[in-house]
Amino acid sequence: MSELTDRFLRYARVNTASDSSSSTSPSSSRQIEFLRMLEIELQELGMGDIELDEKGTLYASLPAEGCGDAVIGLLAHVDTSPDAPGENVNPVLHHNWDGKPIDLCEGVIISPSETTDMLRYIGGTIITSDGTTLLGADDKAGVAIIMEVLDTLINNNGIPVPPLKIAFTTDEEVGRGMDNFDPVRFGADFAYTVDGGSVGKIDTQTFNAWSADWKVKGREVHPGSAEGIMVNALRVLTDIVSSIPPEEMPENSSGNEGYYYPLSISSVTSKGNLKMILRDFTSEGMRSRIETMRSLEKWIKVRYPGAEISLEMSEQYMNPSEILKQDRRPVEFALRATGHVGLEPEESSIRGGTDGSRLSFMGIPTVNLPTGGELFHSRNEWIAEQGLELSYGIVLETLRIWGSQ
Ligand SMILES: [Zn+2]
Repeated sequence: MSELTDRFLRYARVNTASDSSSSTSPSSSRQIEFLRMLEIELQELGMGDIELDEKGTLYASLPAEGCGDAVIGLLAHVDTSPDAPGENVNPVLHHNWDGKPIDLCEGVIISPSETTDMLRYIGGTIITSDGTTLLGADDKAGVAIIMEVLDTLINNNGIPVPPLKIAFTTDEEVGRGMDNFDPVRFGADFAYTVDGGSVGKIDTQTFNAWSADWKVKGREVHPGSAEGIMVNALRVLTDIVSSIPPEEMPENSSGNEGYYYPLSISSVTSKGNLKMILRDFTSEGMRSRIETMRSLEKWIKVRYPGAEISLEMSEQYMNPSEILKQDRRPVEFALRATGHVGLEPEESSIRGGTDGSRLSFMGIPTVNLPTGGELFHSRNEWIAEQGLELSYGIVLETLRIWGSQ
């Protein structure tokens, strides 16, 4: 087994799930414990300028001066998604994989037909959980790749690299990954998150993302004498949901299509709340979705004059593609590096967001590099040992190109 795989397995076993119901930073103390462990490993490696911010970021710099005119940053998030169990992760190695579905326990089956890139790893080693938890390659694979790259750079002085900054962040999976991040302290001109999927893909686009929060106050009364008096908040909210065209929902959208996603309704007659998210790759598309919500608000107010209805919308993150067009080097160098490790490079869009979407708007244009993992946030999550190695190669080669400028 390679040192990289060994490192990944060691990190994957640590529970670092974030917690969307918590209001602390980070949302769970186990993330800080894991950062403390990484802090010691960075010290042992000989990294410089190490600082653990107790709100949830671990910063460090490569002590060597580096070549080239740009300071490059690498980031990965240490938390795993709270959408699937993250405690007692027990990675399983499927050596010499024959290309057939992998049957884990409790009906968890990983079918190559349901995951884009799996069949390229026939004969190789596929790593999964034992089926009771997620694996956490999102983003322990990114953390392991960055640590292994640092190990290589510190112990093989011959590789030209740029001045290099590192950050391990928390709470990416609950949308708060950049809340306490200090871009000035980080000090990079351009950055890469190592938080993508399939090898070969360089993510330069994310969604534009907004949230929509509907609140309704109704009027309760005994149903026997409710005629003309009762205003049922639950009906108002379900009417809002059912007036959104089904083809505009995530389960019917793919490629470059956006969507409206009703996340939750909690309601009784007298009051209720509907939480939704809106996603679109273009800013015009997002503007039109926001307008649609406003028209829907007007229509529903006319329909239910007795109800008190409010709609609050706020921006969550934006597509960094416009920013990345201003200086194409971070994208071009990553694509070139992908070709150098023997893969067909592809510029791609991620149907979600990464810390990089927000970081780009904080002044550090950021591209997302692959990890080789797939089916994140589920017990079906898997990563191939070879995919992990290739992703490591892409990061190292991208840095070498920056350092050779
Ligand atoms: Zn991730």
